[in-house]
Amino acid sequence: MVKKILNARLTLEQTQKQNDQVTISSLYLSLLGNRPRVPWRCLIFANSAKPKAIVTMWLQLQNKLPTSDRLASWGMDINQQCKLCQNELETRDHLFVCCEFTRAIWRKLMAWIKWPDYTLDAWDTHLKWIIEKARGNNLIAQLFRLMYAKCSHAVWIEGTTKFLKTIVEILNTLQKRWLICVV
Ligand SMILES: [Zn+2]
Repeated sequence: MVKKILNARLTLEQTQKQNDQVTISSLYLSLLGNRPRVPWRCLIFANSAKPKAIVTMWLQLQNKLPTSDRLASWGMDINQQCKLCQNELETRDHLFVCCEFTRAIWRKLMAWIKWPDYTLDAWDTHLKWIIEKARGNNLIAQLFRLMYAKCSHAVWIEGTTKFLKTIVEILNTLQKRWLICVV
């Protein structure tokens, strides 16, 4: 840890020496180094959802949520059925893309924002679609980022606690925000 801090300090000093005008973004990029940028970063940045929803989405996008299949792979003896539909194995891909419960939410939301082109067949196509819709700084992209983070969080909470009211509350909140944005 101390070594990392010292290396970061060295990097910052080198950046300051190399550039006449040092900006926060140039310091950030130099600290970032040559690490690859994830394609879904547009969903994380400039997202006005609550931090807990963004953290859930961040874990979801990396397949790091403790879904039943992952818990079982760690040796836990648990029921691996999806808590929402009781039909399939609970995996990230099933829970957020293929589950009947989640599909119903997405269909309703897509109908509400009038985007009929939503494809729901697999995680890869789903990911490609959400990245495309979340990109940019226009109002629709901002609303989509907020909506996706909140819905992912709600699906996760629902899957773990069976708290159905959350979805309705989120839809109501989003509808009110949408009305405020439109008016
Ligand atoms: Zn399911």
